[in-house]
Amino acid sequence: MKCFHSKVLPSILNDEASLPLWKGKLSCDMLLDENILTGSEIIDCEALPSEAMRSAHTRGYLHKIVNGQLELKEQLLLGLRITPEVYPLVSSSVNATISSCLTALTEKVAVSLSGGMHNAYEDFGINYSIFNDIAIAAKVMREMYPRIKILIIDTDADHGAGTNSLLYDDPLTKTFSFHSYGSRKPCFLSDYDVTVARYIDGTSYMDLLMDRLATALERSMPDLVIWVSGVSAHYLDQSRLMRLKASELFYRDLLISKALIKNKIPLAVLLGGGNNENPVLTGKLHRNTIAAVKHNEQLYSSSI
Ligand SMILES: [Zn+2]
Repeated sequence: MKCFHSKVLPSILNDEASLPLWKGKLSCDMLLDENILTGSEIIDCEALPSEAMRSAHTRGYLHKIVNGQLELKEQLLLGLRITPEVYPLVSSSVNATISSCLTALTEKVAVSLSGGMHNAYEDFGINYSIFNDIAIAAKVMREMYPRIKILIIDTDADHGAGTNSLLYDDPLTKTFSFHSYGSRKPCFLSDYDVTVARYIDGTSYMDLLMDRLATALERSMPDLVIWVSGVSAHYLDQSRLMRLKASELFYRDLLISKALIKNKIPLAVLLGGGNNENPVLTGKLHRNTIAAVKHNEQLYSSSI
């Protein structure tokens, strides 16, 4: 199972504020240590020219990110200090997402050990989402395969409104978002938009999620699923939106990946959100997602 990785720069690793950008490395190291993944399955992706981001972002925004010239309030919105060093990292993470989509079409399942930045809009980003790799990848796929039906499944606990804002005019790309939010209702809803009560527990979450997801899959009949898995539904996540335990998240990831892999629907898995006070826990939760996908990939690979 190929896992695409963004090129992580040592100087970025030293910056604590950028943890969400490199947490994939933490999970990747865990999976390698446990022999769940082998070194040959990890593929480093190169940075992309900024022109590759133009399908989703304005020239002005790209210029500011490439040159590290975002205003302070824009950086505060992102929760990140943007220096010129950040661009190669995030653009290689977009490359990882595009690569996982392309590979999923031929190998049925692939993972991007980063990505899922659903809070990035055309000319600004929120909460660590600098570029919307999901929308960029969907647009690349549309250009290469004009009739491909794409379903974006977003199980990150907050709303994927940035993705919706960038893809609403593509009739063959559908979005499914299962989320909760505080008092602020997002302006761009998904095609299959499921809002659940804040602090939902694991049992109610699973019942509703699997029911609504089955409907979305049945109606959209996708040729490719891009799954923003996200682990922010964990009860210790700083978003404080849901109350799932680690074992419940793992069970969720087993069920979702099984529903897709067993039914031979090409699947690209992105890490998405997750930010605990303890970064090792965040890495572990993402590690669990990839382990669940790998389990199903091995289980059903003979029938693929
Ligand atoms: Zn999120």
